[in-house]
Amino acid sequence: AKELGKNRYVHYDADLDARAVEHAQLAADLSHALERDELHLLYQPVVDLPSGQVVGVEALVRWNHPRDGMVSPMRFIPVAERTGLIVPLGEWILRTACQQAAQWIREYGADALSRISVNVSARQLLEPTLPQTVASVLAETGLDPAQLTVEITETAVFGGGRAAETVAAIHALGVSIALDDFGTGHSSLGLLRTCPVDVLKVDKSFVDGVTGTVEQEAIVTSIIEIAQALGLHAIAEGVETGAQADRLHTLGYRLAQGFHFAKPLRATEIESLITSNGDG
Ligand code: C2E
Ligand code: CA
Ligand code: CA
Ligand code: CA
Repeated sequence: AKELGKNRYVHYDADLDARAVEHAQLAADLSHALERDELHLLYQPVVDLPSGQVVGVEALVRWNHPRDGMVSPMRFIPVAERTGLIVPLGEWILRTACQQAAQWIREYGADALSRISVNVSARQLLEPTLPQTVASVLAETGLDPAQLTVEITETAVFGGGRAAETVAAIHALGVSIALDDFGTGHSSLGLLRTCPVDVLKVDKSFVDGVTGTVEQEAIVTSIIEIAQALGLHAIAEGVETGAQADRLHTLGYRLAQGFHFAKPLRATEIESLITSNGDG
């Protein structure tokens, strides 16, 4: 029994080592990714359901690893969070997204595309200087604060420190706050009292149920009622079918995002989309 115990200990330890090495390698590679130009942003359209027009985009980061190819943000954002690298990385994402949006608005007008959404993670909200960073990026790029939305999650706000105050300071700049993955946390409703939220992003897991049973649809219905009662915008995320889009529209949703409309696109693809907006 002693032998077995020892062996099992060794096995467990080796696994842990392998994971630690992999994590350390990813973290090391990521620390050079910015300077080596391996990162870029994609932009997923947000669509107005009644007209079908693109009204905004969400910036989503991509990492093209020289050896492993595309690494999902689901994998490298948590690594960047743990190492603190998300702070400079997040600033680059914010600046790149705001620069791009300001350029689009100058070129095509705010009627063609009126806002950009940027994801901000828990670790970034622990930086008391984040509101100043947002303010200088806006000043630098000339983007109107009303054209920027910062997406946060409930876990980020409850992540400790003065995260809620930081969110309030960003909101005070005139920037909108969106609550991402709404409904998946433990106290999404409680957060609406603590935080100045403007937009609810309804998680895909609920949107999936919209053409399902009455019970499944009830969640999506309740969320739009909450949004309407509190004067908030609601964006249905992960809409994959025309049937879902139609049903969401019928239930009172105006804004949606998902593969049914467009997957995250390169900047040039967004430009073709903007210039054909309204052409039918
Ligand atoms: P998220 O913010 O909830 O972003 C939505 C994710 O759903 C994106 O995945 C998007 O590509 C995907 N998606 C959009 N429409 C559909 C659909 O119709 N069906 C399906 N199955 N998926 C859809 P992505 O780009 O892989 O990003 C995953 C997560 O990584 C994001 O979730 C966000 O939490 C994080 N992330 C991505 N970019 C950034 C960033 O620039 N900064 C930070 N802090 N986090 C980011
Ligand atoms: Ca998001
Ligand atoms: Ca989301
Ligand atoms: Ca998510």
